Amino acid sequence: MTSTVQHTDIAVLGAGMVGASLVHLLQPALNEGLTLTLIDQKALNWDGDISQRPPSFDGRATALSYGTQQMLEQLGIWPAIADRACAIEHIQVSDQGRFGQAHLHAAEQNTEALGYIVENAVLGQGLLSGLQQPGVTINAPTEVTSVRMNEQGALLTFADGQQLQASLLVMADGARSPLAAQLGIQHQRTSYGTHGLVTQVETDKPHGHWAYERFSNDGPIAFLPLQKNQYAVVWTLNNELIDDVLALPDDELLSRLQAQIGHRIGRLLRCGERASYPLALVTSREQVRRSLVLLGNAAHSLHPVAGQGFNLAIRDCAMLAECLNQAWADGTPLGELTLLQSYEQQQQADQRNTIQASDLLPKVFASQSATLSVLRDIGLLALAAMPTARRLFARHAMGLGQRAAKLTRGETV
Ligand SMILES: Cc1cc2nc3c(=O)[nH]c(=O)nc-3n(C[C@H](O)[C@H](O)[C@H](O)COP(=O)(O)OP(=O)(O)OC[C@H]3O[C@@H](n4cnc5c(N)ncnc54)[C@H](O)[C@@H]3O)c2cc1C
Repeated sequence: MTSTVQHTDIAVLGAGMVGASLVHLLQPALNEGLTLTLIDQKALNWDGDISQRPPSFDGRATALSYGTQQMLEQLGIWPAIADRACAIEHIQVSDQGRFGQAHLHAAEQNTEALGYIVENAVLGQGLLSGLQQPGVTINAPTEVTSVRMNEQGALLTFADGQQLQASLLVMADGARSPLAAQLGIQHQRTSYGTHGLVTQVETDKPHGHWAYERFSNDGPIAFLPLQKNQYAVVWTLNNELIDDVLALPDDELLSRLQAQIGHRIGRLLRCGERASYPLALVTSREQVRRSLVLLGNAAHSLHPVAGQGFNLAIRDCAMLAECLNQAWADGTPLGELTLLQSYEQQQQADQRNTIQASDLLPKVFASQSATLSVLRDIGLLALAAMPTARRLFARHAMGLGQRAAKLTRGETV
């Protein structure tokens, strides 16, 4: 069979949360003739079967920061999600067995919500609808088996032997990218020695739009409000415990969860399906090369305790899109190294701060050290007592702690 080489301006490898978000953010350039090919090995119109979906859109729920929600609103994606998203109006952070405790309230920050919880499948439907538009080619399900950089950019080869030449390749293909390794891009991986257990629970009391982040000797646990009296739960457990907890009958799991959270959310009645994720901090040693950018989990995969992985990645996407939309309008080649380096440089501080905070939080709260326990209490009490500290903390949690990218030329979030 003779294979032909297709051409595109930008190839986006991976139609998870991050790849799909980038396509929306490139709308200004698409309106002005940019061509883009979005590729995924999973089908993008799935039915109920979780294993058939892109992994971003599995049975989990995601905490979207207020900044991310505002971005989705401006991109016109939010209306498809809004009815199924739950606003977080109050957050309680507490340390089990100690006196430190802090509350954040949306009203105190003069906003309707500190963030939103949305099921990943709903987020996926929102992000993936509206992608069929002039300039966008969707190539899924199909696997890219090799990537070679050349004079014109990147040459992608598919499992069926077809090839695609792109001026710029954006790799949003997840934390375990064999293709990045093929290009000699190394990743630094530090395991936390823990897994994230994810499930949903139903209680006998409406959640009142409260989210709970609780730190205990067994690991951090988050109860995030969903429907009226349902919560998404993310529980960080040591690797040695995870299999036993996953295998518990429902009633035993419920009583273990109840012991973690106490009775502040009412009595736990039911739990849903469970899944678990090995937790590690994975960062790529390079994020840009000529004609190449790594985004999302391919660039940095974080501990989920602070719910910042996607929120950081979409800010990266917005900044990259701002650079690319402007370059397209100016006629600057999209693969130019200085252009891509300027994106990386502008996101550096945000990435560093968010990664450090996500890395530090589980370590500080997991520590049994008496000094750290006292410091945790002081930190939580300071948050409880000082409106300024709360405002700063809330602004970062809301994804508003840094300069926002321009979504269309001239407009910022
Ligand atoms: C338990 C847990 C809870 C989380 N909670 C939050 C939260 O509350 N808030 C938050 O902001 N973040 C959260 N995150 C992080 C968030 O889920 C990630 O940031 C996000 O999923 C990253 O998406 P991605 O698109 O970069 O990668 P992925 O979802 O891994 O997507 C990569 C895509 O590339 C495709 N692909 C890979 N290789 C190929 C190939 N060779 N050919 C074709 N296609 C390919 C795959 O099929 C896949 O669809 C959480 C993560 C975990 C584990």
